[in-house]
Amino acid sequence: MKAYTYVAPGRFELLDKPEPRLQGPRDAIVRITLGSICTSDLHIKHGSVPRAVTGITVGHEMVGVVEQTGDDVHTVHAGDRVTVNVETFCGECFFCRRGFVNNCTDPDGGWALGCRIDGGQAEYVRVPYADQGLDRIPDTVSDEQALFVGDILATGFWAARISEIGAGDTVLIIGAGPTGLCTLQCVLLHNPARVIVCEASPRRAQFVRELCPSVEVVAPEDCARYVRATCERGGADAVLEVAGGADTFRLAWECARPNAVVTVVALYDTPQILPLPDMYGKNLTFKTGGVDGCDCAEILRLIERGRIDTTPLITHRYALDDIGEAYRLFESREDGVIKVAIRP
Ligand SMILES: [Zn+2]
Ligand SMILES: [Zn+2]
Repeated sequence: MKAYTYVAPGRFELLDKPEPRLQGPRDAIVRITLGSICTSDLHIKHGSVPRAVTGITVGHEMVGVVEQTGDDVHTVHAGDRVTVNVETFCGECFFCRRGFVNNCTDPDGGWALGCRIDGGQAEYVRVPYADQGLDRIPDTVSDEQALFVGDILATGFWAARISEIGAGDTVLIIGAGPTGLCTLQCVLLHNPARVIVCEASPRRAQFVRELCPSVEVVAPEDCARYVRATCERGGADAVLEVAGGADTFRLAWECARPNAVVTVVALYDTPQILPLPDMYGKNLTFKTGGVDGCDCAEILRLIERGRIDTTPLITHRYALDDIGEAYRLFESREDGVIKVAIRP
């Protein structure tokens, strides 16, 4: 089969590889019907993910059809359409039992697919702990509707869930990239009074205005002033930092009102400074990533009921044969690209 492979830092290539086989009783083999490219894939390509293993097939955002299951897989069966979770987790350890699946202590736990074991920018993928990692897609939900459930939509849903958003709150989301847009849709499920999105790119700001006309959009240089002027309690009630820029962590806590929750979803390239003397007395609560991706079944139900729709994020579509061009476009951010869909 064809598999897009991390050959060496800076180099991905579409190679011919054997189809994956079951390696344990809790594995499943999934035939990929649609995949995507994530910013994390670019981080692997540039050698900035030390855990990434050369020779592996990349890709961790995909949906497909179960081909084969091990003897101890019970929740999915051959022929089922499924989402694939970015995180591998056992479901049984201390952390898994508390829903903190990102810190599963299994050797394969955490982000393994497309990083430490073969992923899904290919025709087939082996998924360990298939009972945890796969969720059945309802018949009325398309592959495109379900494509982001296992990764960026799981992230947005988790970020909104832990941010303690109440009805009547003002929520600030920093960053309207793909994960920021998923976060926005999930924040809206909590019925805040106002949502402010801070985004540097005029094109992405316009995208937010068209996707969610009720949302207020502000540029980073105006954000702190705007929030202070329009929030009666001195800042936003909850701030979700999804940008990961040089100054966005500082912007996040500066724009929070006293006693607010600041949820840091972003992954930074450099250490961030937490200037405690400057924020003394503000009594903030910080919550940090990465995602505990164990809400996929609930997300699929919300998609089925029309409460979440991330299909507008898919701006470009490619065949697996043309995945090199898809990467070039996604990385260049040309042509208004938000997300690409890859069909094997
Ligand atoms: Zn990802
Ligand atoms: Zn576990």
